[in-house]
Amino acid sequence: MLGIDEIAEQLRSIGFCCRECGNCCRRVGEDSNLVLVGAAELREIMTATGMSREEVVEPYPEFISGGNGGEYTLAWCLRRTADACIFLKDGRCSIYEHRPWICRTYPFMLLDDELMVSECPGLGAPISCAVRDAAADLHRRQAAEAEEEAEIRSIFQETKIPPGKRVVIDSEGMKVLDG
Ligand code: SF4
Ligand code: SF4
Repeated sequence: MLGIDEIAEQLRSIGFCCRECGNCCRRVGEDSNLVLVGAAELREIMTATGMSREEVVEPYPEFISGGNGGEYTLAWCLRRTADACIFLKDGRCSIYEHRPWICRTYPFMLLDDELMVSECPGLGAPISCAVRDAAADLHRRQAAEAEEEAEIRSIFQETKIPPGKRVVIDSEGMKVLDG
């Protein structure tokens, strides 16, 4: 895992200042605004908004066959309108304090020991945020995602996909979808 100082140095050298264009919340290409949320993040948004799980998220759209007529997917994504995340209101994030890691750290993410950078018009500008805090957030996000993945893996190994049903397996268990 990269250290905070190494990440901060890379962020400084890439450069980033958010232009608040909202492109990362909009559908600018096929599934460009799929925002994955972990079970704990989903719970936080539900508590903050009073919305149900079905109102906040949709299943990650790629389902895998369980071999018995059942299908599963291993993630939730924030619900979207035809062209944007449902929480984008008047060009601003309406759940800003509770937005998931993927939004907090965009356009950056850590993949093993590599800092990955997504498309964003704010790249290349002198860095505008507290760079060590941004690096620490990336570290925390990587740890949270690793924990989530390990829990999902362990639940998956103990789970039987019900025949003929579609399910989502997250780090809190299996949810059978209606219909
Ligand atoms: S992170 Fe990038 S894409 Fe998202 S609002 Fe800021 S400048 Fe736009
Ligand atoms: S949760 Fe907020 S920051 Fe994240 S995609 Fe939706 S509107 Fe954008």
